[in-house]
Formats: sequence, C-alpha cells, structure tokens
Amino acid sequence: MNIEAYHQIVNELKGFDAQLVAVSKTKPVEDIQSLLNEGQLVFGENKVQEMTAKHEELDKNIQWHMIGHLQRNKVKYMAPYVSLIHGIDSLRLLKEVNKQGEKAGRKLNCLLQMHIAEEESKFGLSREELDEILQYLDAEKPAHVQVSGLMGMATNTANQPQVSKEFTGLRKLYDELKAGPFSASGFEVLSMGMSGDYPLALEAGSNMVRVGSKIFGARNY
Ligand SMILES: *Cc1c(COP(=O)(O)O)cnc(C)c1O
Repeated sequence: MNIEAYHQIVNELKGFDAQLVAVSKTKPVEDIQSLLNEGQLVFGENKVQEMTAKHEELDKNIQWHMIGHLQRNKVKYMAPYVSLIHGIDSLRLLKEVNKQGEKAGRKLNCLLQMHIAEEESKFGLSREELDEILQYLDAEKPAHVQVSGLMGMATNTANQPQVSKEFTGLRKLYDELKAGPFSASGFEVLSMGMSGDYPLALEAGSNMVRVGSKIFGARNY
C-alpha cells in the first residue's frame, strides 16, 4: 500500500471540501489498520460479508460505506452498523433498506446510484426509475431511510471529455434534486470519482470520492 499517495489525495481533496472513502475491498485488515493509524476513518467495501467481518475485527469508530451492487437479502447483515449505502439502484432495494432500518432501530443513510456510463453492464437507476423512487418517498415517507445524495460511475475510458460530461450531467441532476424534491432534507452527498477519474469528478463538483487501488495497490481477484 502507498501511504504517500494517501496523503497526497487527502491534500488534493482539501481544496474541494470533499471526503475520501478509502476503498479497501479484497485488502487485509492490516492495510486498513495502517490507514486508520494515519487518521482515515471512512472505508468502502463492495461485499456485505467481507465488510461485516472487517467491522467485527476492527475499531468500531470506522465508518463503513457499502459501495457495491447490493442484494436485498444481504441488507439485514449490515443494517446495525453501516454508515452509508452508495448503491441504491432499485425501488425494491430501497424498500428493503427501510424495512431493515426499522428492524435495527436506525435510519439508514443511502445514495441513489444513477446510471451515467455508456456501458450497459454498469448498475444504476434510469430517470424513470428515479421518478418512481421520488414518488414512493413523497407518498410513503419511509421513516428508516435517509436519502443523502447521489452516486455515479463514469464510463471506464481514456476519453476524458466523455467522463467529464457524464460527471457534469450527474452534478446537474444533483443540483436540481437538492433545490427541488430534497430541499428540506439532508441531501448533501455527491459520490463520484475513483482512482482513475477522481480529478475530473472533483472538477465537476463531486464531494465524495471512492479511491481504492491508488492507495492500496492493485487488487488480485
Ligand atoms: C472498487 C470500486 C471503487 C474503487 O476503485 P479504484 O479504481 O480501485 O479506485 C470505487 N467505486 C466502486 C463502486 C467500486 O466498486
């Protein structure tokens, strides 16, 4: 792992008032502990089982973010402790999060993941699905979910103008929702940017970046 790169990223983020989620998926608890010793408290994982095992083993002050695609039957395992769920990509999932939040006696923070990339393989909500969720929130006012913002993943391409365009589009939607349907609530997170594209995301207005390999090194699956 690369502590120097970590500090460099932290410094870069200061100018943007953005938060770093250190993406520790597949990495051992020793690596997380090293970063914790540097003062990093927010970590991202994409598998509930792995995140829960790490949560049990490590300092309880760590804020765990679920950043991956989430199966509904896994929500219950993290409901008692998860800090932010980035990948709400269906109404059914949001309803399950509300249900498990109620069982855990908590209000669970989540981000709506929008589909902004070109590739078909990437998860995320269409505008129609977003509208469906907005209607649900308005009609049902679920008490155990807090929609705190948006998340998106840009196309994995060297075409920087395209990536910037995708990020800027999400930023616009974020501003619209923040001024409109979410104006009365704690809607304040725009999660976009990873190791390869976070500078472009910051330029487009991201206030939360999810960086893994640039800090922890390449992953072996
Ligand atoms: C793995 C992952 C990241 C981090 O990717 P890096 O390229 O290693 O920085 C960010 N966001 C999501 C949703 C991921 O799954």
